[in-house]
Amino acid sequence: MINGKTSVFGLLGNPVEHTLSPFIHNLLYEETQYNGTYNPFFVPTGQLEYAVKAIKGLSLKGLNVTVPYKIDVMSYLDYIDPVAKRIGACNTINVEADELVGYNTDWLGLKKSCDYEGIQLDGQHCVVIGAGGSARAVAMMCYYSNAASIRIVNRTIEKAEQICRYVNEAKAEDCNDRCEVTFGALESQKHLETQSILFQTTSVGMHPHYDATPLDHVFAESERPDYASLFKQVAAVIDIIYNPKETLTMRLAKEHGVKAVNGLGMLFFQAVCAFEIWTGILLEQEQLERALKKLEIHVYGQETDR
Ligand code: NAP
Repeated sequence: MINGKTSVFGLLGNPVEHTLSPFIHNLLYEETQYNGTYNPFFVPTGQLEYAVKAIKGLSLKGLNVTVPYKIDVMSYLDYIDPVAKRIGACNTINVEADELVGYNTDWLGLKKSCDYEGIQLDGQHCVVIGAGGSARAVAMMCYYSNAASIRIVNRTIEKAEQICRYVNEAKAEDCNDRCEVTFGALESQKHLETQSILFQTTSVGMHPHYDATPLDHVFAESERPDYASLFKQVAAVIDIIYNPKETLTMRLAKEHGVKAVNGLGMLFFQAVCAFEIWTGILLEQEQLERALKKLEIHVYGQETDR
């Protein structure tokens, strides 16, 4: 029940109609008995600065930021967490000692989702398909998880090269020569030389394109896709798309005996991480399990078999 002591949170974006974030944060309030409310705020083009200024003006406790403002918002913040700076995008704003501090919980959410699913990245070879906004957080997550190598492949090779450069800059700053980072065209991934974890970060396969997969681009139109030999070297697939529940990429992986998870866990855990930053409250494992099950039932009508 909202009252005079309710802490107000929200999401800045354009559009915001279809966001699942209020539902997720309400689950977290329910689990922790926290007196909070989470509201989607539609920010018209050109109004971002005023929306950010309202945080202090209205004593909001914290905000999430989504498309198309994750990069632009950084110019209105007082301080940016070093990892968010490396990723080049903020999706969470916290008020700390009267300063607006920007974080990126997308990478943390994905990391927690991998942990939750029992997918270990430490010492593993990671392949990131796609080089859009989310791929940079995914590649940085692989780096911070001590992956042995990261290969970024994309239709537009220049964008893959750019992400490769960002991760290599982080490596140089950290004097870290352990993780080999390379890039290439999608077609370069016909065969994986070593057992790898595949992150699918393109928008290919998203609702309503159920029969599309970026793996189609790996094989030339004239050749018969050899998924059996491709998946022989894949330890797990994480497709960050969460609608549909199972993309064609995931289905192909499962047909070849490879574990495949979708992006709902990433979405859920990025919200959990934002909640933790804002409130300092850490959820217990049972609370997380219960809330994630409720989210799966809300979105898919059933919970996921693990
Ligand atoms: P984005 O910045 O628009 O990037 C799109 C990516 O998809 C680019 O790499 C693009 O390649 C590739 N792509 C698009 N159409 C293609 C096609 N026909 N063939 C091959 N590649 C194609 O998008 P984003 O923000 O990174 O989001 C990507 C996906 O991640 C979306 O489905 C989004 O819903 C999902 N996502 C999920 C979460 C989560 O919490 N689970 C969070 C963020 C995003 P080019 O560079 O060649 O154009």
